[in-house]
Amino acid sequence: MTHQPLNTEWSTEATAARRDNYYAASQRKFVPFKDPIVFQKGSMQYLWDAEGNKYTDLLGMNVCISVGHSHPTVVAAAMEQAQQLTHCTTMFYHPTPAHLAEELAATMPKGHEWVVHFTNSGSEAVDLAMTMARSYTGNLDLLALRTAYHGPTASAQSLTGISGWRHPGMPGNVAFVAEPNQYRGIFGENAGAAPYLDEIDQTIRTATTGQIAGMFVESVQGYGGIIEMPKGYMSGAAERVRAAGGLYIADEVQSGFGRTGDHMWGFEADGVVPDIVVMAKGLGNGFPIGAVVAKKEIAAPMAEKFMFHTYGANPTSCAAGRAVLQVIREDKVMENAKTVGSALLARLHELKDKHAAIGDVRGRGLMLAIEMVKDRKTKEPDAATTSAVFEHCRAQRLILSKSGPFQSSLRMVPPMCLTLEDVDRVAGGLDQAFSSL
Ligand code: PMP
Repeated sequence: MTHQPLNTEWSTEATAARRDNYYAASQRKFVPFKDPIVFQKGSMQYLWDAEGNKYTDLLGMNVCISVGHSHPTVVAAAMEQAQQLTHCTTMFYHPTPAHLAEELAATMPKGHEWVVHFTNSGSEAVDLAMTMARSYTGNLDLLALRTAYHGPTASAQSLTGISGWRHPGMPGNVAFVAEPNQYRGIFGENAGAAPYLDEIDQTIRTATTGQIAGMFVESVQGYGGIIEMPKGYMSGAAERVRAAGGLYIADEVQSGFGRTGDHMWGFEADGVVPDIVVMAKGLGNGFPIGAVVAKKEIAAPMAEKFMFHTYGANPTSCAAGRAVLQVIREDKVMENAKTVGSALLARLHELKDKHAAIGDVRGRGLMLAIEMVKDRKTKEPDAATTSAVFEHCRAQRLILSKSGPFQSSLRMVPPMCLTLEDVDRVAGGLDQAFSSL
């Protein structure tokens, strides 16, 4: 039997009607554009809507597309695997996930034995890391940052500080520390890491049992609005949390796979060696996969009980993951993120010099943001201007993302094959958008 045509109906209205009728309200809510877009096709950093308009995807389909939409190498690897054997649970052995585990372990800091537990998503990996930290330490309390985002499952939500993403009924035992935001953090502009590290100590003393299971830190915060950790913060946080019996857990779901331009993993910028690393998104370049990579001894106690993710280590997603790592290596993807990201950052700074609505420009590699304010002195966040610029950009076929606790930042996390010519178009488009406010 040949399969039925994937789609015969591409009109926005018909798709919208089906969504309205058959998606739960929770799945329909997060549509940031005024008018919906139906995407039909993707190739590398570009997308095409159902009317044939071409867009530059600065959102990387929510940071999932690390090396390019429908990247031919990744698609070919996944297709070959799917045709041979689409799924093989971890009850049985299969070489593809075993190879990927070895390759991921090899990307971790030397001097430790690293092991991998595959999941299907970032939040499942976060949940697993929570359980792993609690099993290993015997402690319950966790720390996270106020503007953190760690995922939609109930436990990952409990670690998510941003209130707009928190729903009723989350599990507890999480204390939040202030994010070391160098633009609008509680200790003022460019306060560095030190006062925020003291705050971790104070929080442990005042808001926890004093016995910590672990601290989760996004090496660069994504939904928080691209908040970089200042020098010394990640290593200092690891010291403090370890002194309280806990583990340091790096969430690399957005910042990993060379996106920061300098290192494969964001935590490497601070020389810290995490106990557990959580990853997803870019690993599959759009195929669903997540992973917890942990020091061997830390993962061991969990084996006293069963833990089984039905689709974990799915060979098709793992074949995609192996191809992603190959492309990152062979196509010098990280190096491109550095060159093109630096060029884009320089252009964003020029825009800040020209347009008073921009309060801050930040990030590194291809993980960048601009934040809009009503007044540069008061730094009052300006969500309305952010939305207006966002819509103007859409009209110019640039897909960005609004983010941050005040929805006042525009986040840029494109596929890492973005080029210098794209940078020209993006900077020109943003300039026009700000000029037409
Ligand atoms: N951690 C971070 C830093 C994320 O950005 C996300 C997803 N946006 C997650 C965890 C959760 O990943 P997923 O949506 O795949 O469950």
